[in-house]
Formats: sequence, structure tokens, C-alpha cells
Amino acid sequence: MYKKRGLLIVLSGPSGVGKGTVRKELFSQPNTNYEYSISMTTRNPREGEVDGVDYFFKSREEFETLIEQGRLLEHAEYVGNYYGTPLDYVEETLEAGRDVFLEIEVVGAAQVRKQVPDGLFIFLAPPSLSALEDRLVGRGTETTEVIQSRVGKAREELEMMNLYDYVVENDEVQNACDRINAIVTAEHCRRERVEKRYIQMLEGDF
Ligand code: 5GP
Repeated sequence: MYKKRGLLIVLSGPSGVGKGTVRKELFSQPNTNYEYSISMTTRNPREGEVDGVDYFFKSREEFETLIEQGRLLEHAEYVGNYYGTPLDYVEETLEAGRDVFLEIEVVGAAQVRKQVPDGLFIFLAPPSLSALEDRLVGRGTETTEVIQSRVGKAREELEMMNLYDYVVENDEVQNACDRINAIVTAEHCRRERVEKRYIQMLEGDF
């Protein structure tokens, strides 16, 4: 009997692009039918953050034990703290046929790409990227230094896109959410993802 596995959705992108805001907005909407994987971190809780809701807050020692035991799908150090995705939760939820959503930084996303090549990788891009490119190519009214540093930053960000299947520009939070939902819906209809089920149906398996 064919059992449908859930889809692993990874939202990532450069620092400061608004991943957290978009993720919170997505999960505040009643039509969102994927599960958010709560990350582990060694950073201190911010005001209002709740253990087991926003993050699982761990000591460095506890986190390093989790790494040693292979209990994280990915992990990365970001501004002096560890962040990581619990492997068991992701595996069990996907196995139960439900989609899992990760909101993680780019180093971790690259690790997931290797571990789960059939995941759905969405790059959240800064809203100013295309405007910036146009402006840089255009009149050249800014100092060479400013242009160079912006070109450098834009290039870094563009290079990061290579690992992803889709790019969503975060011009407005709601627009970004709508695009992400549309991508997830389309991804479920992708031939490679559905054909196994039909092959088994044709073979009379169910
Ligand atoms: P913050 O400390 O602001 O909550 O998160 C800092 C950064 O860590 C954000 O870019 C966020 O997306 C990323 N992050 C959150 N959870 C994880 C995780 O489990 N793994 C990785 N690699 N990054 C994470």
C-alpha cells in the first residue's frame, strides 16, 4: 500500500531579510496546513519567548551532546550561538504524511539540501535586490565604495540563491506568504512527486 510522505519545506535567505516575520505570518493564518519544526538553540530567550514554542532552549553542553548523538538534521553557529533542527520530529512528521516547514539560516539550509535532496528549498530575497541592481547599472551617482560594497553584497546574496528551487521576493509580508503557499501547492502537483502513487494505482495496489 502506497503511503504518501510529507514534503520538507525549507525557507531560508540572507540575514535580515525577514524570514522570521514571514514564517510567523504564515503560521498565524488558518489555511496553513504544514507543521513548523521548532528549532533548538543555545541563545537566551528574548522577552516573551517560550521554551518549546519559539525554540527549545538548550545549554551549549546539551546542544553539543545532541550533535554527537546525531539527533539534529542540521545545525549551524550564528552570531555566537548554535541553532539546529531536531531530526526525530522532522522524520516522524514527514513519515506521518504531513509537510514540515523549516525557517533556518543559509548554512543549515545547505546541509539539509545534501541530506534531503527532494525537499523544497525557497530563498527569501531582499526586496531591494532588483531595484539595487537597476540602480547600480544605471546612473552611477553613488560613490565607487558604496557601489562596490553593494555589488559585493548583492553578489553574495545572488550566489546563495544557487542552492534553491524558488526565489520569493519579500516586498510585502503578505505577498511573500501568498507566493510561498502557491509554491507549496504547485510542488505537491509536480509529476515526480505524484507519479509513484499512480503507478501503484495502475498496478492495482490500491
Ligand atoms: P534568531 O536568533 O533571530 O531567532 O535567529 C537567528 C537566525 O537563526 C535566523 O536567521 C533564523 O532563521 C536562524 N535559525 C533559526 N532556527 C534555526 C535552525 O534550526 N537551524 C539553523 N541553521 N538556523 C536557524
